[in-house]
Amino acid sequence: VGTIALATTGAAGPAHAAKAVVEKASDTKKFVGAAFAIGAVAGLFGSKTLGAGTEGLATGATITKINEVFPGALPNKSLVSKATKALKKYDYGSDSLIATSFCADEVNRCLEAELGKVFTDNFSMGGLAGFPFGGVTSFGAMAAHIPDGGSCLVVFGPHVGVDSAGSVGTVERRGRANGGACCGSAVAASGYVASVLSGDTEKAKPPADALDAQQSFVGSLLLPHAARLDKASDKMVELPYALYDAQKEMMTDVVTSAAGAVAGSGKIAVMGGIQINTPPGQSDYYLPLSFEVYDNTGTKIEDLTL
Ligand SMILES: [Zn+2]
Repeated sequence: VGTIALATTGAAGPAHAAKAVVEKASDTKKFVGAAFAIGAVAGLFGSKTLGAGTEGLATGATITKINEVFPGALPNKSLVSKATKALKKYDYGSDSLIATSFCADEVNRCLEAELGKVFTDNFSMGGLAGFPFGGVTSFGAMAAHIPDGGSCLVVFGPHVGVDSAGSVGTVERRGRANGGACCGSAVAASGYVASVLSGDTEKAKPPADALDAQQSFVGSLLLPHAARLDKASDKMVELPYALYDAQKEMMTDVVTSAAGAVAGSGKIAVMGGIQINTPPGQSDYYLPLSFEVYDNTGTKIEDLTL
């Protein structure tokens, strides 16, 4: 990486020097390419997306904490396998489409990769903190992409890190000495709602432009849960549960308003829960909290269990 960076600055210098550096960089790229391919297979570099499902289960303080505060959480791989089995009765298969609504944070892509092994590429309805900010339009567009005669599966939820010391609301990140907040958007919103609750900050008006509109809405959608967060013994544990409730309400509104966009007897399965991000080398988890099947009139047909 250092050599490639040097090649960039070297290109501005004398031609012969730049050429030598570029040749060296080219060799380095070949090496990096080969190492990257091996790393992808071995799940190195801490990328859970490249090695989706190849990580071991969570260990130590991480799994102890997950079992304590998110009981029922499943490793991504088991979640996808159980969900696929549960959907067999509705003929989900190669003519199904997967849509997700997860936070923009790159730590959330590994669950999409795992789901993708069964359902191929996902339609993305999500935005900051996992809210389905793509709204009714994104659902309608997704529905119009379902293969003829098929159904869709929508998976949504907030995310939360549990680090190797068992701390909730943070996680180790690739190449960084300090992990930082996870979910950062959610933690920022929880600060905003606490400040409104205490009277230190005035409730913000709806955003007038798009510049930071999603974060503004994360704050306003979390605001009804401010007192609940304030009373919680561990706010970082309560936060994803509160966000789930807010997102469930929004997703149900989206699905029931736009269900008619799904053709014929196609079904809409909607799974909601909390995505749990763990340290590199350990599988991420997902705590399923609802798994509903709707028809295209927006009527709920069944509550599935995993
Ligand atoms: Zn996030």
